[in-house]
Amino acid sequence: MISFCPMKIDRIAGMTLNDAHEPSILEIDDMPGLLSMTDIKYKLHLSVVNESVLVKGSVSITLEVECGRCLDKYKFVIEDKDVCHFYDGAAEKSHLNITEEIREDLLVKLPQYFICREECEGLCQYCGVKKSKCKCDGAEKAAAMIFEEEEVESSQKASGSGG
Ligand SMILES: [Zn+2]
Ligand SMILES: [Zn+2]
Repeated sequence: MISFCPMKIDRIAGMTLNDAHEPSILEIDDMPGLLSMTDIKYKLHLSVVNESVLVKGSVSITLEVECGRCLDKYKFVIEDKDVCHFYDGAAEKSHLNITEEIREDLLVKLPQYFICREECEGLCQYCGVKKSKCKCDGAEKAAAMIFEEEEVESSQKASGSGG
């Protein structure tokens, strides 16, 4: 949980939260291609404005992920440098939980799936090697097989109609 005590915020200088939190609060452990996560790092400046609390700063996390096409591992950084949340009338509270807002700040920047780069061609379906490095003749063989199947089909039709 990412939280603090608003009553302890210096009314003039504000207060800085510079800490890390385990990534489990994101609840993305089951995401396909996600291998591991660092802690969530946050540096937030808290200030009291007219009995309300203003939270501004940055939050980031680094994910180790696997490309959904070529299976290459790479690091994916999610960062929000413009965290900004306003808690109306919260200045006198003894406890303010901002976990959900921080969670959303990160989740909105999370892609639906991980692709190492937009042009990634993925793996050759015949030999399993990256398409850019594949030297197999799998595609040619497959094309030849389709051609043979078509021939068989057309000869079956010709013989079948005579009965
Ligand atoms: Zn890839
Ligand atoms: Zn191949």
